Amino acid sequence: MPTAAIEVSALTKRYARLAALDAVDLLVTQGEFFGLLGPNGAGKTTLISIIAGLTRATSGWVRVMGHDVAEDYRAARRNLGVVPQELVFDPFFTVREMLRIQSGYFGLARNDDWIDEVMFHLDLTGKAEVNMRALSGGMKRRVLVAQALVHRPPVIVLDEPTAGVDVELRQGLWQFMRRLNRDGHTIVLTTHYLEEAQQMCGRIAMLKAGRIVALESTRELLRRIAGIQVAMRLRGALPPALRDQVIEEQSEHIVLRLSHPRDVGAALEACRSFGSEVEELEVGPADLEDVFLQVMAEGPARSLS
Ligand code: ATP
Repeated sequence: MPTAAIEVSALTKRYARLAALDAVDLLVTQGEFFGLLGPNGAGKTTLISIIAGLTRATSGWVRVMGHDVAEDYRAARRNLGVVPQELVFDPFFTVREMLRIQSGYFGLARNDDWIDEVMFHLDLTGKAEVNMRALSGGMKRRVLVAQALVHRPPVIVLDEPTAGVDVELRQGLWQFMRRLNRDGHTIVLTTHYLEEAQQMCGRIAMLKAGRIVALESTRELLRRIAGIQVAMRLRGALPPALRDQVIEEQSEHIVLRLSHPRDVGAALEACRSFGSEVEELEVGPADLEDVFLQVMAEGPARSLS
């Protein structure tokens, strides 16, 4: 049986009266590409920093590759590479020096071959001898990713790795992550770009107000919850009966979510008999964003004790 990469059991984190995490259970299996989604403040970063051993849980436990992150911190940490959300660096070192120092933390004295490979894949080779302070935000983020990978951790956790980075890096980064995943690394990521999560992740957990409100394969999530999306350009007003189905509206352009393809005919008929004309129509499967909005609308609100 494959060992769990990350096990989270009854994990609660309280800040005064607020439960940032409320009895979270989660099991990420080795080799997964796993997405952790949730709106701002849902608890994603708190969960990641507990996994990384940087924040203490109020109760419950977390293991990384079988090692408890609190009791067996060093072993857990060796198995984990974390790309944090915040860009914090010592500005006086070059990129290569940063990566050598990071290798040193893990007792890796001769790590330059791997450092060169990581820099190459993150398109950092040309910046190897440049001081951190002279790098752009996007470049700094690449270094953060490289830093997380210097010790070849079997489990890689990325907290919003593509926030504020250009399309080119995003694609490069995902290509590299896919390769690492193919090579057996477990990848966990949080992102606000649901399109990315949909493309990359095999399984997704959605957090809301410190609780897991959905945990399923991406395919299942899309199939079970979503229904279909109908985008149309409507001349005239939308019939009130369809108001509840609107997920996007910009003047004449309206996107509806319907639960079944057979509802399309009824929706069109409703528009027609309301005296409004559908001028363009595009029907497609709902995407992860629909699912996300739906799950978030249904999930429980935060509880205060
Ligand atoms: P985002 O998408 O904005 O990064 P998130 O899902 O990562 O959000 P967290 O940063 O984990 O959310 O925060 C969860 C909740 O815990 C929020 O309500 C936040 O205000 C609160 N919180 C986080 N850190 C602290 C702290 N050190 N002290 C008090 N409250 C905190």
